[in-house]
Amino acid sequence: MLASTDYLVVGAGASGLAFADALVAEADVEVTVIDRRDAPGGHWVDAYPFVRLHSPSAYYGVNSRALGEDRVDRVGENAGYYERATGKEAVEYFAEAARRLTQTGRARVLTGHEHLGAGSDGEQLRDLSTGVIHDVAVRRKVVDARYLEGSIPATHAAPFQVAPGVRLVPINDLPAAAQSGGSYAVVGSGKTAVDACIWLLDNDVQPDRIRWIRPRDAWFYDRKHVQPLGQVGAIMEGNSLDAEAGAHAANIDDLFERLEALGRLVRIDPARQATMYRGTMLSARELAALRQIADVVRLGRVRRIEADRIVLERGETKTGPDVLHVDCTALGLSNAPATPIFQPGRIVLQQVRHLQPCFNAALVGFIEAHRDDDVDKNRLCPPNPYASSIKDWPRMMSRTWRTEGRWLSEPDLSAWVAQSRLNLLRALPDHAEEPPVQTAVKRYLTHVRAAIERLKQLDGSSSPRGEESGAVGSRGER
Ligand SMILES: Cc1cc2nc3c(=O)[nH]c(=O)nc-3n(C[C@H](O)[C@H](O)[C@H](O)COP(=O)(O)OP(=O)(O)OC[C@H]3O[C@@H](n4cnc5c(N)ncnc54)[C@H](O)[C@@H]3O)c2cc1C
Repeated sequence: MLASTDYLVVGAGASGLAFADALVAEADVEVTVIDRRDAPGGHWVDAYPFVRLHSPSAYYGVNSRALGEDRVDRVGENAGYYERATGKEAVEYFAEAARRLTQTGRARVLTGHEHLGAGSDGEQLRDLSTGVIHDVAVRRKVVDARYLEGSIPATHAAPFQVAPGVRLVPINDLPAAAQSGGSYAVVGSGKTAVDACIWLLDNDVQPDRIRWIRPRDAWFYDRKHVQPLGQVGAIMEGNSLDAEAGAHAANIDDLFERLEALGRLVRIDPARQATMYRGTMLSARELAALRQIADVVRLGRVRRIEADRIVLERGETKTGPDVLHVDCTALGLSNAPATPIFQPGRIVLQQVRHLQPCFNAALVGFIEAHRDDDVDKNRLCPPNPYASSIKDWPRMMSRTWRTEGRWLSEPDLSAWVAQSRLNLLRALPDHAEEPPVQTAVKRYLTHVRAAIERLKQLDGSSSPRGEESGAVGSRGER
């Protein structure tokens, strides 16, 4: 067992591994990554069998190694778009990333080990196979790569009562529990519920056999706007639409109406107000499929499921013994509040550029290797919490744009960002001469400054002082 290390990274998910990979590439340091799970890969290890990345593999994973082959899919719902790894492929990828990290001779990855916190003789790790507790002296920093750990279906308990005999499964068990001719009640508003509905439809369940209990309606990106590499103009176009809508928005509702009118965001039922925004995406085919499900229950959250009825916050609806209830209520993305990323003796990995967990973890690794002063590091990496509702969008976007602006005056950092495979805009220079790309860049540059100012007003926090030091105040802590 090791006695000391420069960095102790707690969490061998995508974030912990992307951080360690970038740090070891940039600095001559010794890194130990630990995870209580039996394998690297974080939540992917326990994900449901038909899960896929919702974003392209091309900008996911660790910086030093490609995930997949940057192939454009030819068939299926993702046809025309860059490939997205399955959960199994993600787990295999992270196992290989951990192996390669270990081969550097300056890193080790210990699975089956739990971090208990600081003890009198160092950081305490419990070996889960033996129960023995080891003390590890950390010479530089403990890296919290689990601060944004979400709850996932495999490890989450349904947040409502369930009467004996009611058929309820987590999404992980849906393929095994589904029966031909059955009826289904999918509970949840987010991407997991979307995946459950699409899986049922793809497996020949008729839409009228599906009841969707959806406490909130959500906004989704159109998948066409998240395509990198040869289609990077699509990402630039999406960014430019964000800037245009942000610059002109009269209020939050107007902002989302503009984003929808510009084709940037979609909702399943345009007649219903959507208040949820988690940054997930749908293809046009998925959207059309989901719109076939007409039996949508909007009576708030489920309180209990009884033998013949489902009791919700604002009413009830019928159910029965032939209905398989699918629990999709786990909160995949954590709502943890912002806290400074660089702290004395500690790094707390969080989002910086919105919705880019792997890029952000690697970015923090690069900054840790090349900057000395925590105030400066936090200036370049202010935390940018995951959004949950439409009210979070102005803060999320304006913080990304202000932070990216700061990177531009740091040549080494800009150069790293430009070449990073995790940077979704990496291929932009190769396509700069294309007229649609030029149009998008021009639209973005025309509107981004005004958008930052307008979105700061909509967020109600015009002073970025706390953010400069990383000490985000109460407005930011959502
Ligand atoms: C179904 C799903 C699909 C997603 N798809 C995408 C996508 O396509 N693109 C994208 O950018 N993002 C996606 N995300 C967001 C996702 O959260 C990130 O991509 C990423 O995988 C999260 O990795 P992480 O390392 O931050 O957290 P996790 O994967 O949760 O890893 C944290 C790890 O910390 C370990 N840990 C916690 N406490 C301790 C302790 N005390 N001691 C030891 N170990 C500990 C846990 O065991 C866990 O393995 C998706 C999320 C979900 C849930």
